[in-house]
Amino acid sequence: MEIVPGLHQLKTPMAGPALPYMMPYAFTGGDGVSLFDAGFGTPEAIAAMTKELATLGYEPKHIRRLFISHAHPDHIGMAGWIKDQAPDCQVIMLEREWQWIQSRWLDGDAWTRLSDGWLVKHGIPQEDIDAAHEAGALSPTAPAVKPGQAAPEKPAGGPRAGGPGGPGGGMRWIEPDVKLQDGEVVEFDGWKLRAVWTPGHTPGHMCMYEPNHRLMFTGDHVLPYITPNVSLHADQEGSSPLSDFRASLQKVSSFDTQCALPAHEFTIADLKARCDVLLHHHDERLNEVREAIGSGETSGRVISQNVHWNTGPFDDFNIFMKRSALGETLAHLRLLEDDGRVERIEADERLLWRKK
Ligand SMILES: [Zn+2]
Repeated sequence: MEIVPGLHQLKTPMAGPALPYMMPYAFTGGDGVSLFDAGFGTPEAIAAMTKELATLGYEPKHIRRLFISHAHPDHIGMAGWIKDQAPDCQVIMLEREWQWIQSRWLDGDAWTRLSDGWLVKHGIPQEDIDAAHEAGALSPTAPAVKPGQAAPEKPAGGPRAGGPGGPGGGMRWIEPDVKLQDGEVVEFDGWKLRAVWTPGHTPGHMCMYEPNHRLMFTGDHVLPYITPNVSLHADQEGSSPLSDFRASLQKVSSFDTQCALPAHEFTIADLKARCDVLLHHHDERLNEVREAIGSGETSGRVISQNVHWNTGPFDDFNIFMKRSALGETLAHLRLLEDDGRVERIEADERLLWRKK
């Protein structure tokens, strides 16, 4: 679908039923074609991309630039294949996201050790973790969690966008050719794209703003119907992803935008209104998480059991879903703590929470 002359919304299939496709955007020009996000590295997604490009009169070897919103496999998964087809293609992302890839993804064993200790600290029984390892479910090479599964938070309706899983999706990691900073502008073929750092869904998530047509490419930061996954992970104890996410919503709201172009679902007509809905959703969720603590000192696991999940009770989740759900609960607790509404109690290598 042509959005404005020379800019096309494409579709590549996802790996699970929760979200049917992701939407790369193709800028066409005499110089070749430039993409904002690509899709999974699966044969099906690659075939779809090849077909989509052919309808625009291009082949994969004509891809000149690949902008990456963030390092989840449904966005970055095809990058390795694209580099094989078009070795001169520049892969472009925020430097912050590349730092995160290096610390989070490139040493899977270290991550697994850290993550296991973190699960225990927040109340997940060691036996459950041992059983998951025996089943191969927690190995760093385990297949990616399906996007809908990975993000079992109470939604503003519907399933959820790509949460943390293994890389999966037929991908390999490649170092970006260009590492952008917040606010940097990239010009090509008459286009001018400004990098907008929007941490929250991932630490280095990038939206891009196009000033001539007043378009905002939102990746997974803002989606029209589902709520992006925002989790505090084992390697982020010192940060507050939910407070980052809220600030990032306000940041994109402040741009003069005619419409927003997300990576899933459909075009967003009123970006600011959608951001306001997401902010309100998390306000309500913060209250729910605080109430779920009850009157005593409570672990992240028990709080997660006490809140509502759209995908069913916490105890029915597999270990990946539990880790993701726990991460979402903790993202809310962290913000509540910063606001002085809850406090943490460290006891015997366990972490508990109490209302204030
Ligand atoms: Zn996605």
